[in-house]
Amino acid sequence: MNDIQYGVEVHQPGAHLFRVQLRVAHPAASGQIFSMPAWIPGSYMIRDFARHIVDLRAHCRGNPVALQKLDKQRWHAPPVDGPLSLEYEVYAWDLSVRAAHLDSTHGFFNGSSLLLAVEGGEQLPQRLRIARPAQAVCDGWQVATAMRAQEVDADGFGDYSAADYSELIDHPVEMGRFERHHFTACGVPHELVLTGSFRSDGARICRDLTRICEWHIRFFGEPAPMERYVFLVMVVGDGYGGLEHRASTSLLVARDSLPAPGDSSVSDAYLGFLGLCSHEYFHTWNVKRIKPAAFIPERLDREVHTELLWAFEGITSYYDDLALVRCGLISEQRYLKLLGRTATRVQRGAGRLKQSVAESSFDAWTKFYKQGENAPNAIVSYYTKGALVALALDLTIRRDSDGEHSLDDVMRALWERHGRTGEGIAERGVQALAAQVTGLDLGDFFASAVHGTAELPLESLLADFGIALGWRAATSQEDRGGGGELDSTPPLWLGVRLQAADGCARISHVFDDGPAQRAGLSAGDLLLAADGLRTTPQNLAALLRRYAAGDRLALHVFRRDELMAFVVELQRAPRDTCVLTALPEEVELRRDWLGDGTAGADSRGEASA
Ligand SMILES: [Zn+2]
Repeated sequence: MNDIQYGVEVHQPGAHLFRVQLRVAHPAASGQIFSMPAWIPGSYMIRDFARHIVDLRAHCRGNPVALQKLDKQRWHAPPVDGPLSLEYEVYAWDLSVRAAHLDSTHGFFNGSSLLLAVEGGEQLPQRLRIARPAQAVCDGWQVATAMRAQEVDADGFGDYSAADYSELIDHPVEMGRFERHHFTACGVPHELVLTGSFRSDGARICRDLTRICEWHIRFFGEPAPMERYVFLVMVVGDGYGGLEHRASTSLLVARDSLPAPGDSSVSDAYLGFLGLCSHEYFHTWNVKRIKPAAFIPERLDREVHTELLWAFEGITSYYDDLALVRCGLISEQRYLKLLGRTATRVQRGAGRLKQSVAESSFDAWTKFYKQGENAPNAIVSYYTKGALVALALDLTIRRDSDGEHSLDDVMRALWERHGRTGEGIAERGVQALAAQVTGLDLGDFFASAVHGTAELPLESLLADFGIALGWRAATSQEDRGGGGELDSTPPLWLGVRLQAADGCARISHVFDDGPAQRAGLSAGDLLLAADGLRTTPQNLAALLRRYAAGDRLALHVFRRDELMAFVVELQRAPRDTCVLTALPEEVELRRDWLGDGTAGADSRGEASA
């Protein structure tokens, strides 16, 4: 009999309730404490999953046991003579990759949303029984998860096991009538599980994922650190998200991002899907096994601060798209377009000049994950700027070592010394290891790019790789950059981002030092009229084409329920949109950078170090 045994069943799909049983064979003699995680690894925000627990009760040998609530997420059971059993329901109606979701079409859960930890027993083996739903509406359901099956039926219902609590909650579970595909990458079995309403070409996705997964495995060096891997994909009309786990990932993607049957092209939307898969897969090494020392041991009861998220999310964001060109799925030109879009996103927020990526990492909990209307002016993303820092670091190492070293070598050294060993990285450990592996003095680089807010020297770095970086103004709100004409005259600009609302346009963001901010307009204002004419997000651009820089434009807005008038002095839009162009000459540095890049894992001997 296992010491800690969980059972999960579909209780009431219509009410979105899972039922959970927890049996502790040998509860602590002084009384047993149970706790629910406050956050889920990979998503750095306090979510207080305990708030969805409904009707928690305990018993021992058939007699009720009174539980005492200790705080927002912990309960105490008094000493009992025998096994202690808990039973409770969990409300699951969060259609995201971070929590749990249940209705008549499917069930999904992360253990961190459903399974109370047995304090003191976190290091013990844990068992989970997933019961076949009795409800007729759940006929034909199956189970998909990367958790180790002990004794399950043909559909996957039955007993699973994990070495400890941390592993138990790191294998999300999907139940339903999904589409399941199998493929192998470097000998490792992979599953692609697609849930939702869609028409696509699963075999084609598997072919593309095989190339991506094999590239990643060879990049870090075979054998892969996981015995098998599962992509759990929830397909919806509109959505985007992913969360990494040690042997799986859960993704939420838009229907249109999957390739139509018979379509062999790579649309921008499908490229976004492949980039997301590549991103989460790279995390299998970078953050699931190479971790900050601050994350060891795992503390899920409160915020855990580290300045290193730029290295885990930024470097991963750099390699997610780079892997696509290196494994041959997209062209060099297509890759430069993606890179140009990343540079554009960073450039459009003045927050990059106020917050470093190290600070952004540290404050992820209260700033990056709680972005308000002022976010572009105040903070920088450790994902997007982190990706550019990784790019700049890679190019700097390649240039200054005459092509001898690269960020690839640093990643492989991180894997050997911190991934395989499980030894966490100190806060300045990435910098120290990068200097050690490359023999370069990277002190100024890290001071400026990671801990400072100066602009990254991308233009001069890329020039050495035969790539011209230019800036132009955005042509519309939808213009994400990456291509386009450099020498066109910038259009006129208000310095706001707009959303369609109530047949008008609502200001969602006001950018620092723009015309709207100087005139006194605010986020939330409902834009009614410009020079006496009704405005929408669509017709505003057309209207502005009839004015010149320096002209004054009268705007009427509702702020709350009050009509207000402002006069804006128009100016030309800033050149904040990046265009990258590969020069026609063959450049050796560029060829090495965008080439396959996995050969080094074997030739440099790091794998045997
Ligand atoms: Zn990530």
